[in-house]
Amino acid sequence: MSAGFSADATWRSWGRVEHGVHYRGQPYFRDQLEPLLQEARASRKPALAVGLGRSYGLSNLNTDGALLCMQDLDRFIAFDAENGVLRAETGASLGDILRFCVPRGWFLPTTPGTRFVTLGGAIANDVHGKNHVRAGSFGCAVRRIGLLTSHGGCIELTPDDALFAATIGGMGLTGVMEWAEIQLTQIPSSFIDYEQIAFGNLSEFFALSAESDGAFKHTVAWVDCTAGGDALGRGLFHRGNWAPDGGYVAHEDRIALSLPLDAPNGLLNAVTLAGFNLAWRALHAASPRVARTSYQKHLYPLDAIGAWNRLYGSRGFYQYQCVLPPEAAPDALADMLRTIKRFRDGSFLVVLKAMGERASLGLLSFPMRGYTLAIDFANRGAPTLELMEALDDIVAAANGRLYAAKDGRMSGAMFKQGFPRWSEFAEHVDPALSSNFWRRVSA
Ligand SMILES: Cc1cc2nc3c(=O)[nH]c(=O)nc-3n(C[C@H](O)[C@H](O)[C@H](O)COP(=O)(O)OP(=O)(O)OC[C@H]3O[C@@H](n4cnc5c(N)ncnc54)[C@H](O)[C@@H]3O)c2cc1C
Repeated sequence: MSAGFSADATWRSWGRVEHGVHYRGQPYFRDQLEPLLQEARASRKPALAVGLGRSYGLSNLNTDGALLCMQDLDRFIAFDAENGVLRAETGASLGDILRFCVPRGWFLPTTPGTRFVTLGGAIANDVHGKNHVRAGSFGCAVRRIGLLTSHGGCIELTPDDALFAATIGGMGLTGVMEWAEIQLTQIPSSFIDYEQIAFGNLSEFFALSAESDGAFKHTVAWVDCTAGGDALGRGLFHRGNWAPDGGYVAHEDRIALSLPLDAPNGLLNAVTLAGFNLAWRALHAASPRVARTSYQKHLYPLDAIGAWNRLYGSRGFYQYQCVLPPEAAPDALADMLRTIKRFRDGSFLVVLKAMGERASLGLLSFPMRGYTLAIDFANRGAPTLELMEALDDIVAAANGRLYAAKDGRMSGAMFKQGFPRWSEFAEHVDPALSSNFWRRVSA
């Protein structure tokens, strides 16, 4: 490819399983986007806009195609301080936005477990946070989008447009979002009063979750997937609310520790995992049950360690995230945890959260009412894929679905069952755009 693009063999998604060459263009100004898109088209390369590469699997990869890397398009365009409405270029990260809006008493409507995500990435995956029950997903707070398509020019979309609904959660396939306008949420301080409660099994989790939904804005549980028998699904439940006072202090961008190299493959095996899970539970059981902390520590604990994805070694890892309807969740989750034990696999990162009824407009949005389980598996090749296929059977039988932002191997059949509006969405896919995920599931 020519002028605006250069070959790059280093671009990876967060799971680092797939390797390949991409042709990378990095615009600094919005008016460079359209010529880049045209150049890719003339070279017969499908294009894809990408953010900070925090999706785990295939949705931010476009092997042998063009990448429009958006991270330098990170300017704020307009801010209505009275009503908390921000318009920004989509390469701005959630961390950039928080540094600007927290001192002014505003916060993101919802946030994933890392602030190293761009505004464009948050919309394209319609991300959710620990407050889904109360706030819905990110798309619920998007008011306008500036979308560049290969049909020419940047068009302004509002929630009344069919293309708006396809773009929320549309994985970058409907066009390149140049800018977006979002509604922020007012906060009484930048601190969170939280409680941590140990629970002994899945039934105790469901009781705690039901009790907490009405009274706490942020809830999430860590599950010890090595426990079995009566302790199946035991873990630690965290719930919190914005503290009523304490002032407005934005996070610092300091990273406490960064992994410079890949850890040895196989470092995370059944023995080290069992040890880690026991130690983690013991450590937290000994720490204060009720405390006040910064939003940074509460919402982004993993951001303290740079490049932690290298812990899984050079073969990388998969994250498996599903959501299950409430009626089916207790049995299906128990079945999934037993299956993971039977395969002698597991993870130190197993997160279980409730999801509420508030839906965004997104045709392919992942969230739905129920419970979402996310679990990392080191890539051990065929046995890991076999385990995830066994989990797929449980999720499909329970009428659940998988999260494309995390996926690195979903079948077309699983995608189509989980997202019944996919063919309506397909009509909005821009012919100049594609991704490894889309080629896999739409084939
Ligand atoms: C530690 C960690 C915790 C996480 N926790 C959560 C969580 O709690 N909840 C959750 O929902 N997700 C979570 N995620 C996933 C993450 O929020 C999403 O994958 C997010 O979309 C990544 O954004 P990004 O900027 O890195 O985009 P990328 O991963 O680079 O791209 C993601 C998608 O956005 C599209 N895209 C990016 N920019 C644009 C643009 N300007 N125009 C059009 N399309 C665009 C890409 O084509 C791609 O399809 C987590 C990820 C990590 C690493």
